[in-house]
Amino acid sequence: MPTQYLSTHDFSDPDIVLAGSLIDGTGAEPRPDVALLLHLGRLDRIISRDALSPGMIQGARVLDLSGSTVMPGMMDTHAHLTFSALDSHDAVRKQVSGESDATLALRALRNGLAHLAAGVTTLRDTGGRGFVTLDVRDAIASGLAPGPRIQASGPAITTTGGHLNYLGLIADGAEALRAACIQVMDRGADYIKLCATGGIMTAESDPMRPQYDTAALAGAVAVAEERGTLVAAHSLSAEALVQCVEAGVRSIEHCLWQDEPGIFRFRPEVADVMIQKNIFAGLTFAGIAQMRFRSRVLGQSVPDDLGVWMTRLEARYEAEKEMLARGVRYVLHSDAGVRETPFGAFWLIPASACYELELTPLQAIRAITQSPAELMQIGEDVGTLEPGKVADFLVYEKSPADNIRNIQSPRAVFQSGRLTVDAGSLIVRTLK
Ligand SMILES: [Zn+2]
Repeated sequence: MPTQYLSTHDFSDPDIVLAGSLIDGTGAEPRPDVALLLHLGRLDRIISRDALSPGMIQGARVLDLSGSTVMPGMMDTHAHLTFSALDSHDAVRKQVSGESDATLALRALRNGLAHLAAGVTTLRDTGGRGFVTLDVRDAIASGLAPGPRIQASGPAITTTGGHLNYLGLIADGAEALRAACIQVMDRGADYIKLCATGGIMTAESDPMRPQYDTAALAGAVAVAEERGTLVAAHSLSAEALVQCVEAGVRSIEHCLWQDEPGIFRFRPEVADVMIQKNIFAGLTFAGIAQMRFRSRVLGQSVPDDLGVWMTRLEARYEAEKEMLARGVRYVLHSDAGVRETPFGAFWLIPASACYELELTPLQAIRAITQSPAELMQIGEDVGTLEPGKVADFLVYEKSPADNIRNIQSPRAVFQSGRLTVDAGSLIVRTLK
């Protein structure tokens, strides 16, 4: 690592970035020796370094990263900014239920900054208490506070006693679900998050049982489409997965092909409908799902009570490998904030996915850059490094394309062409 900090130079807001290697996020092979020409926070052109003319360089602030790799800022499509990642589901639940709105907002900001320092420049909050996350989103977007770009659903919509009921938006049955969808959209949510099954974090719910019927889910999709947005559905069972596919949700969060706890069976005919309807599978690598990678690759110990998951995960990942081989679109996400899943450790998601699903580094990178941007309907602005896109990018000394574990510590994070994280430290600019 070089000892000098980028921020000590006058290059925190460059016009031209020289990159030794460019990973663009599309899955294409890295491109050597390029020059990125920036204008008003966006990428204007990307050219070969040799094509830079003296006229282009004259008077320009040129940041020379010719020994480094540049790649798009990462995107996490599933995180809970108001959650605390404590070591039990019960503790997380008590925290999010008990804290004041102000404390939750501060916690959300802190969590967002931890993700940003780890290279996540865009994240989607998939359920917070009340509408705190919308205020946090707006505070960052308006410049009131630093942080990543956020899409937020407000609370997750669920049933009485259903998964995440303590976030505060209950809707039982089709009519109530439709009204709840309208309520969150009117309040300013970016999209609709609903819980199609119970969840492990909510002891009184049943993770295998559907919480809504297909018609109710289709009603939620209709509201979303009227507003030009989409539905993301939490689902832990194959039964609910089939309903979500029939209803036409845009993403299936967790997307487990689980017939009963620990029993997984991939169904190609369902996957084919997912492909036809352009439904994304959100593959979750939360703390428990990282256990095999952490114990076998990193040598960390696994809590005794979680040993049963070592074989369950085997079956889960076998089904997911079949799904990916079939051609279903997918993203890799963290579920950060839940048990044992802190913000700021996002590198474990692509690293675990490469280990478990036998992805190449470039495939994993695409699933945390271009694919999430398309899922979130912001692919015209972010997700890849191509002309016209917002200049959100990361700088690495060693290329993540060579070894996905290199993705752990970005040397620098740029947002809209400005240096915002330098060697892990947040840049706080003079306040005006
Ligand atoms: Zn979640």
